[in-house]
Formats: sequence, structure tokens, C-alpha cells
Amino acid sequence: MNIDLHSHSTASDGLLKPEELVARAVANGVEVLALTDHDGVSGLSEARARAEAEGLRFVDGVEISVTWEGSAVHIVGLQIDPENPVLRSGLESIREGRARRAEKMGDALAAAGVPDSLAGAKTYAENPDLISRSHFARHLVKTGRAPDVKSVFQSYLVKGKPGFVPHQWASLAQAVSWIRASGGTAVVAHPGRYKFSKPELQVFLAQFRDCGGAGIEVVTGSHSPEQYLEFARVAREFGLAASRGSDYHGKGESKADLGALPQLPDDLKPVWHDW
Ligand code: AMP
Ligand code: MN
Ligand code: MN
Ligand code: MN
Repeated sequence: MNIDLHSHSTASDGLLKPEELVARAVANGVEVLALTDHDGVSGLSEARARAEAEGLRFVDGVEISVTWEGSAVHIVGLQIDPENPVLRSGLESIREGRARRAEKMGDALAAAGVPDSLAGAKTYAENPDLISRSHFARHLVKTGRAPDVKSVFQSYLVKGKPGFVPHQWASLAQAVSWIRASGGTAVVAHPGRYKFSKPELQVFLAQFRDCGGAGIEVVTGSHSPEQYLEFARVAREFGLAASRGSDYHGKGESKADLGALPQLPDDLKPVWHDW
């Protein structure tokens, strides 16, 4: 089965509308797709309707922004109930923080000689309720500050650069509890992207599991083949179920296309095992 459990639409920082994303997944041979937009669920109903029309199995998902020990970490929720009030109010609280951060980013970039970037970012954000660094990045590429999104991040938007604004997202326990309150499974997104030392990763995963987390992405567009093996070992060590997802955002912005990933190692328990 070709199962892709991590993707983004214009409801957050993806480039395709929810229904266009589903159509692309079908064209790529994906059989089960989760839409996991950042900190919101507003794209799910459109995606589900198109998936049902196309005969694709659709999984309601979300990717929640978390601050753990001062670092940003992402927790994916799968098979959530998007109507659940606990989940909805939690996500709303994060989105309010995003709006404030975007204002500060605009000010910080202006102070560094890059004017009007918030207005520019807003022209790329189809969902005015969800402004991310990706929207700033697209505007900065368009205005010639850097050749592509990746280099804009490196020069402007990561820690230590002029447009980076430190921000407090949800706590790990909050994110996991909101996902669980809505009947979902909590999964650590792209663990290979975090700059944790080995001991920090151990403490993080132990806390994640202790507060009810159940899975970890092993095969993702963010991992190298060596990292597939590394995080397969981590999944075994911590007794976590394994997930597979491209983290597709759109053409030219993602390493892996929808569904275009190796399968999970056979011995791991997949997150979808009990669905
Ligand atoms: P935010 O949640 O607003 O901090 O934005 C995070 C998003 O920016 C991620 O979900 C990615 O889509 C994108 N992103 C983060 N780091 C990079 C990078 N180095 N290159 C390209 N995109 C990135
Ligand atoms: Mn993103
Ligand atoms: Mn992420
Ligand atoms: Mn993602």
C-alpha cells in the first residue's frame, strides 16, 4: 500500500489547494493520504470530499507546533476529530500566537532593511489565519532577497538571522493531549531535523511516550536513507509505532513528492496497524 501521512495545503503553507493536493496524490498512486496542515484543520473537509469522490482513503490530520526545552518541534496528529472542541480551542490559541509573531517578524525585518514584508507575506497566505515563515520566504524570494526559499531561510529566517523571532508554541504535553482528546494518534514529525544531542533525544522521546505519544516518523521527505535506519532503531527502542509521510508542500519546495518514499522496514509496527 502507498500510504502518505504528512502533507500540506494552502490551509497552511502548502502551495496546492486541499482538493488539488488530493488529485495529485491520486495521480501519484497514493492509496491513503493524511492532510496535516500546521496548527489548523480548515482544509480537511474540502480534502475529504475530493478524496471520497476519487476513491482515496483520507485521514484527518494536523501538525502542531511545540516548544520543547527552547526548541521548535512538530507533533503530527492522525485520525483526529476536527470538530473536537478541546483540539479546536488549542489550535486557535496557537494561531493567535502566530499572528503576533508575524507582526514581530515584519518589524524585525524592517529594522534589518527589509520593509513591508508582512504585507508581502500576506499576499502568499491563502488562509489569513495562518501566516508562517514559508509565506515570508516566498515574498523575500520574489523581491530578490535570495534565489530560493531554502537560502532565504538560511539568510533571514532561522535562529540568529534578522527575521527570526523566538516564539513559545504549545507544550509537548498540551499538543499530545489535544490530539488524544480528539481521538487521534500523536506522532513525532521528522525527528531527524531537530538538533538534539543523543541524550536530549532520549529525554524528549521518553517524555513524549509518557504523556501519551504513540508514533514516530521513520520514513519522511526530511530524512536521508541513513536516518531511515537510525529512526527505525529508535522506534524499536522506544516501542513507538512507525509512520511514513512526504511532508509535501509543493513543487520546488519539497524533497519528496506525495507518496514517493520507500516503504517502512517490515518489522516495525505501522501507525495505521490498528485503524
Ligand atoms: P513556521 O511554522 O512559521 O515557523 O514555519 C515552519 C515551516 O517553514 C516549515 O513547516 C517548513 O515548511 C518551512 N521551513 C522551515 N525551515 C526551512 C528551511 N530551512 N528551508 C525551507 N523551508 C523551511
Ligand atoms: Mn511547513
Ligand atoms: Mn514540520
Ligand atoms: Mn509538515
